Amino acid sequence: MQNSTRTTVILGTGGTIAGTAEQAQDNVGYKAAQLGVAQLMEAVAAPGRVETEQVAQVDSKDMDHVLWQALAHRVAFHLARDEVGAIVITHGTDTMEETAYFLHRVLAPTKPVVMTAAMRPASALLSDGPQNLRDALALSATPGARGVLVVMAQQVFAAPGLRKAHSYRLDALSGGDAGPLARIEEGRLRRFRKWPDGAALGMAAVQRPVESWPRVEIVLSHAGADGRLVDALLREPPQGIVVAGTGNGTVHVQLQAALQRAVASGVAVRRCTRCAAGTVIGGDAEGLLSLGELSPAQARVALLLELLAARA
Ligand code: ASP
Repeated sequence: MQNSTRTTVILGTGGTIAGTAEQAQDNVGYKAAQLGVAQLMEAVAAPGRVETEQVAQVDSKDMDHVLWQALAHRVAFHLARDEVGAIVITHGTDTMEETAYFLHRVLAPTKPVVMTAAMRPASALLSDGPQNLRDALALSATPGARGVLVVMAQQVFAAPGLRKAHSYRLDALSGGDAGPLARIEEGRLRRFRKWPDGAALGMAAVQRPVESWPRVEIVLSHAGADGRLVDALLREPPQGIVVAGTGNGTVHVQLQAALQRAVASGVAVRRCTRCAAGTVIGGDAEGLLSLGELSPAQARVALLLELLAARA
C-alpha cells in the first residue's frame, strides 16, 4: 500500500452512513446525517495519516448547488496539497450519482477521490457503513488509483453512468452496462477497466454565485405526456430542460411538440433514457440532442455544467 506516509482527507457530508435510528432493528425509520465524520472514522482502522473535515451534514436527498460548490472547493483545496494522497467523501446514496458526476466533470482529479455511503444507518444491526468506509480507505491507498470513484458493497464504480438502482438493497448502486470498474475484497482490488479520466472543466466554471447558475429541469415522457408541464415551465423559463425519454430516448408526440416550443424560445433541451440501463442510440432526433448513457439526474448535471461553461 502506498500513501501510508501521505495524508488522506475524509470529508463528511452526511447521509445514511452517518444516520441513526432509535432501535437497532430499524433499517428505514432513521434520521440521516446525525454522526460526524470523525465519529464514523472511530469505527474503522485508518491506514496511515488521516484528517477529517465536516463539509456538510445533510440527507443527500436535500443536496443542492450551494453544497456542491462548497464541496468542490474543499476537494480542490485538499487535492492541491502535496502531502495529501487521496480524499474520501462520505455521502448519501440518494444523489450520489449526481455529486460524483459533478466532481468528476469539474475536477477530473489525478489523485483518488473516493466516495462512499451506506444503505443502513450506523445504529443498525447490520450496518454497512464501516465496511464501505474501510473499503474506500483501502481503495484510496491503492497505488495508481485516480479519479472520482464510488465504492459500495465491495463494488467500485466510475462516476459516468452510475445510478442508484435499488431502494433498499445494500448493493444499491449500479454502473449501468459497463458494470463495476473493480471489486474490492479484503482490502484488495480486482480491477476490470482503466481508471476514469477526462478533461476537468475547472473550478472557474462553478465559481460564480449559485443564485446565478442556470436552472435546468427534468421532465419525463410517459403515456399521456401532453406537454402541459413544459408549457407551464415556459411561463418562467428555465435555461435547460432534460427529457427522460421512453426506451431509446423517444418522447411522446405531444411532449415533443412542447419541447420544440421550448427550443424555439431559447431553452436548451437534451434527451436521455428513463430506462434503468443502456444508452440512447442514434444521436439526435427531432432536434433534441442526446446525452447518451447518462441517467436523467446525471444528464441534468451535464447540461447544467454545459451552460455554466458556456458562460465562464
Ligand atoms: N436518504 C439517504 C441519503 O441519501 C439515503 C442513503 O444515504 O442511503 O442521504
